[in-house]
Amino acid sequence: MTAETTPGAAPETRGFKAEVRELLKLMIHSLYSHREIFLRELISNASDANDKLRFLSIADPALLGDEKELGIWIEHDAEAGTLSIRDNGIGMTRDEAVAHLGTIAKSGTAEFFGKLTGDAQKDSQLIGQFGVGFYSAFIVADRVEVRSRKAGEHAADGVRWESAADGDYTVETIERAERGTTIVLHLKDDAKEFADAWKLRQLVRRYSDHIAFPVHMAKQGAATLEFEAVNQAQALWTRPRAELKDEEYVEFYRHITHDGSPPLAWSHNKVEGKREYTSLLYIPSQAPFDLWHRDASRGLKLHVKRVYIMDDAEQFLPMYLRFIKGVLDSSDLPLNVSRELLQKDPEVEAMRNALTKRGLDLVSRLSKDEPEKYRTFWKEFGQALKEGVGEDFGNRDKILPLLRFASTHEAGDEDGVALADYVARMKEGQERIYYVLAESRAAARSSPFIERLRAKGIEVLLLGDRVDPWIMGQLHEFEGKPFQDAARGDLDLGKLEDEAEKKASEAADEAHKDFFDRVAAALGDGVAGVRSSSRLTESPACLTRDEDDIGEQMRRMLAAAGREMPAGKPRLEVNLTHPLVERLQKVEGEDFTELAQLLFDQAQLTEQGQVANPGDYVRRLNRVLVKLVGAAA
Ligand code: ADP
Ligand code: MG
Repeated sequence: MTAETTPGAAPETRGFKAEVRELLKLMIHSLYSHREIFLRELISNASDANDKLRFLSIADPALLGDEKELGIWIEHDAEAGTLSIRDNGIGMTRDEAVAHLGTIAKSGTAEFFGKLTGDAQKDSQLIGQFGVGFYSAFIVADRVEVRSRKAGEHAADGVRWESAADGDYTVETIERAERGTTIVLHLKDDAKEFADAWKLRQLVRRYSDHIAFPVHMAKQGAATLEFEAVNQAQALWTRPRAELKDEEYVEFYRHITHDGSPPLAWSHNKVEGKREYTSLLYIPSQAPFDLWHRDASRGLKLHVKRVYIMDDAEQFLPMYLRFIKGVLDSSDLPLNVSRELLQKDPEVEAMRNALTKRGLDLVSRLSKDEPEKYRTFWKEFGQALKEGVGEDFGNRDKILPLLRFASTHEAGDEDGVALADYVARMKEGQERIYYVLAESRAAARSSPFIERLRAKGIEVLLLGDRVDPWIMGQLHEFEGKPFQDAARGDLDLGKLEDEAEKKASEAADEAHKDFFDRVAAALGDGVAGVRSSSRLTESPACLTRDEDDIGEQMRRMLAAAGREMPAGKPRLEVNLTHPLVERLQKVEGEDFTELAQLLFDQAQLTEQGQVANPGDYVRRLNRVLVKLVGAAA
């Protein structure tokens, strides 16, 4: 024991970490209008502390000592203007109090601060999403005192932590008989209303009914101090669905996620029989900032026979449903279950399959019943859900109807078209579902590859997301209709093409054979061949690839993942009716080579967003422009 931690030594004063100071200021400022949330946060922490102790006592029952009933106590003193929240849970050591109350340990704090704008309205939403936690006490209190003793430690090793939110806090070691933590708020003058019995009861009921531990308050009118539980003290998911109000589900969601925005939808189910468990799954209304971090925490809050076991149990849902939050309470898993055991347990595998279906059903229900909310859902989580096409072959039939696409039949870049919509309005004689891949939806919309399809009024799905090439590579058909990449192969329009058109284009190909050979010779080994285009109506040229070539977008995706793979050589397709191509047929020598090369460069630009050699391209283009300017002068 060092001198500092000896009971009776002078309190030690320390400074808050800079980000804590910043957060405190922001929070007090931006959450002022719903400041009563501090109570929910502190009760939530007390409940977590009790959960943790109960969990640890499974392996070490002595930790509970003779105080086996876990609970939460709220006391107030209207005259002194104080309010205290006490639990008899895990408690904190002195070091833990310093570590947990003086810093923000949560992962992603730096990113969080990066996003703050200084605009109170926007920031309060962000703060709500991030979870305000312990510091919310300072919204209503100008001084906060924490006294705690860790379960299993001696009474002499208690800690007292205190701060007036002015940048410093003090810690000292104290003698404390009680296990767990007491938080005393010295209420600000304008927050004295929170030292009122009626008000407190009302808030506890609103915010903490679902907390699994009794929240006690002094019995009113009793001669001596007697406590009574003011909440239901029953874990929400154990109560029958019919009895639960929407607000209660929303409040519980806040408790487990720290997300201030209400969820889009939820699904609460009890499974009985061979396997017994209850699940409560939620779809949030906003993607967390770390949805795309591979190591972000995800998964359900796991309980076994109502005892809290762990957060972020990942094994019960697949990666592509990582946005789902919720709790799972199993009656069959052992209380000492660990992450390692979860990975091996065949029961877990079976539950995962069932929960995956539940999750997909929940999404599906939202898509059918609440199209507005589904749009929000798709915007926030569509990209993640899409991964399921490749990841979860068994559920593909459930996933495909949930996908949404931008399309040539809808204005704007929003994904609004379901495959079923597309199929329902396919043209007479149309056999395929056409799509085009590009760097963005906007680029897809103006892609030369779909000029002819568009001219014929055939709908094309516009794909511009990073994962799309990979997703589409896995998809072959929907309801018997094959998918067709507009940039690949021969773009066979089947019955959509009339015989005369087909004959004319074959004849044109035949008649221009020599011309194509000359263009190919001018381009050297950059291309696999030259032919007339069945796709273009406005652009002079484009590059196409065979069905089995990996293609440019896919090549880039693989390269980004560290797998270099050469794409095959593209074919140059030219639009014989375009003035530039008509002109090309009439020139010779250097002019011919230069113009042919320019057509190729342009086609490369539209396919890949870049040319192989920008310097050459610019010089070439300028030579042509100079000639033009000369001719005009
Ligand atoms: P969070 O609850 O999301 O972790 P908080 O800001 O609410 O964030 O709390 C910070 C940390 O302080 C908790 O993770 C916990 O370690 C500690 N803490 C807060 N309240 C208590 C309590 N009543 N008992 C034990 N530890 C607590
Ligand atoms: Mg908390």
